[in-house]
This record gives sequence, C-alpha cells and structure tokens, in this order.
Amino acid sequence: MSQSGELVVFYGCMFSGKTTALIDYISQRQLKPNEFIVLKPEIDFRAGKDKIATHDGKVHDCIAYSSGMELQDLISPFTKLIAIDEAQFFDKLILSELRRYLNKGIDIAVSGLDKDYRARPFGIIPNLIEMAHHKHHLKAVCQQCGADAEYSYRMTQNHVLVLIGAENHYEPRCEKCFNINQ
Ligand SMILES: [Zn+2]
Repeated sequence: MSQSGELVVFYGCMFSGKTTALIDYISQRQLKPNEFIVLKPEIDFRAGKDKIATHDGKVHDCIAYSSGMELQDLISPFTKLIAIDEAQFFDKLILSELRRYLNKGIDIAVSGLDKDYRARPFGIIPNLIEMAHHKHHLKAVCQQCGADAEYSYRMTQNHVLVLIGAENHYEPRCEKCFNINQ
C-alpha cells in the first residue's frame, strides 16, 4: 500500500510573505539536510544562484532549477519533501512529475504568485491550488488604503512580465485600489 504525500501551497500577491511562509514550513518539518530539496526557477537571481531569500532577510540554500534539469536527478531515496519557491515560473510539465512524487509519498510545498500584474492567473499556481491538500492564501497590506491586498500593482510602464526581484516596480493593492488605475 502506498502512502501519498501532501501538497501544501502558499500563494498570494507580492509582499504577502509567501517565501517566508515556505521557509518557515521547511524549518518546522525538522528534516535532515538530505531529506529535502528546495528549488527555485533559474530566472530568480535575487539571492544568488543557490539561495532563496525573503523580504525580511531569511535565507535558505536551494537549487536554481532550469528547464533542462531532470527532477529525478535531484531526488534521492531519502527525499521526503520537495519545496519550490516562485513556482509560477515553472513549466506545466512539472505538474505530472509532482503528482508522481506525491503518489510515491513525497510531500511537496510550493509558494508563488497566483495572479500576475494584470490579475490574470499566473502559470501553474492555479493548478497547484486545485491539487493542494493544504492551501494558504496570504495577503499583503494595500499601499494605498491599508486594507488586505491580493493584487500586485505594477508601477512602471515596462511591459516585461518577468520583473522578478524588481520589488520597486510593484506594490501590493486591494482589489478596489488595483482597479482604480487599470
Ligand atoms: Zn486599497
């Protein structure tokens, strides 16, 4: 009889504390170093190639994952948890792989943006939310009115979607304040 793993998803807008929540979750698991891996998309150079960092300064070692890498090469018989930060940038192909590891009893924890700066569903996060056993919708503080914020408002005219690590270009906003300037 196989025991399936659990999928935990931390999602929300920018500055909602997603990475902090992911790092806290990893810490709470109290796993040995060889029992978990942490991945982030190679595109995120915010904290150097092999670290994830939170806005409040927490840092964790991780693997910068590119599309050419095989997840199976990173997993060992000891792996109990796969953690993924900024999961919105991962290709849809990873979903079936993650399902496979859940079926093998490996837990998966991800964090990511559920909506892009145009409030459209972002990458695989909606799929992961649907698959999740435990989901945590994190909120930031609206920089206009102080209400709970669920949207990442882009303050620059740069139309490049991927402005990761470019926090100065975004501010969290509630739905009302987000829509004022759209
Ligand atoms: Zn507001």
